[in-house]
Amino acid sequence: MVCYKFIEFHFIIIKQDSTAHRPNREQRFTMKEYEEVRNSLIDMLEDLDDRLAKITHDVKEPLDKDSEEQATEMENAEVLDRLGNAARTEREMVKEAIARIDKGQYGLCQVCGNPIAKERLKAIPFSSMCIKCASQTGC
Ligand SMILES: [Zn+2]
Repeated sequence: MVCYKFIEFHFIIIKQDSTAHRPNREQRFTMKEYEEVRNSLIDMLEDLDDRLAKITHDVKEPLDKDSEEQATEMENAEVLDRLGNAARTEREMVKEAIARIDKGQYGLCQVCGNPIAKERLKAIPFSSMCIKCASQTGC
C-alpha cells in the first residue's frame, strides 16, 4: 500500500532530522485536553441536533399554492435539503470523533495511523485523517 511506504519514509526523515521535528509525544493530548475536546464535540452535536430540528421543521412547512411562491419554496426546500445533508454528515463525523475518544483512538489518522497534528484537531476537532492523508485521496 502506498500509505505504508509513505509512513516508513516519513519515519526515516524524522530519525535523520530529529532537531527539525518535534517528537510525537508532544502531539499527545492530556486527559484534560481530551475532556475539553469531548465537551466541545458534545456541544457541536447539540448544535447540529438543533440545526437539524429547525431544518426538518422548515422542510415540513406546507408549500404555498401560488406558483411563483411555490418555485421559491421549492428552491428553499432544496437549499434546506442540502443544509440538512451537510449537518447530518457533520453530525456523524462528530459522533465518530467522540467514539474515538472513548476508545482511546482520538487524534490518530484513520488512514495511516499517524498522529494528527494538534493544530489541525484544534481547527477541526472531528477530523479523522492527518493533513497528508486528507489531501491525498485514495491513500
Ligand atoms: Zn494519515
